[in-house]
Order: sequence, then structure tokens, then C-alpha cells
Amino acid sequence: MEASSKTDSTITPTKQIMVYVCGECHHDNEIRQKDSIRCRECGYRIMYKKRTKRLVVFDAR
Ligand SMILES: [Zn+2]
Repeated sequence: MEASSKTDSTITPTKQIMVYVCGECHHDNEIRQKDSIRCRECGYRIMYKKRTKRLVVFDAR
């Protein structure tokens, strides 16, 4: 694949920290890929990806 040479000032791919917004209390949660998706404020498991605003639902185990 060819990398387009534009100055990407995005997050480093090594640390995959995403910001999710809780679907319940709208609290911002920084969540790493290894972490389980869960709101630290209320424990809700339905989070929105902040960048895409797409609904992400994670099944509770
Ligand atoms: Zn919450």
C-alpha cells in the first residue's frame, strides 16, 4: 500500500487510545484497545466513538 504523504498529526498507532462518549451520561472516556469498553462514571456499556460518532455497542460478558 502506498502511504500518501500528507502531514498526519493523528495519534501514534502504537498507543491505540480512543475517546468514547458514554451513551448514558455522555462522559468522555479514554479507552485503550485492551481495556473493556465501559463508562467509568456510570458503568454503561454503550459508547459512541467520538471521532466517527458511530454507535458502538459492546456485549457484556
Ligand atoms: Zn456513563
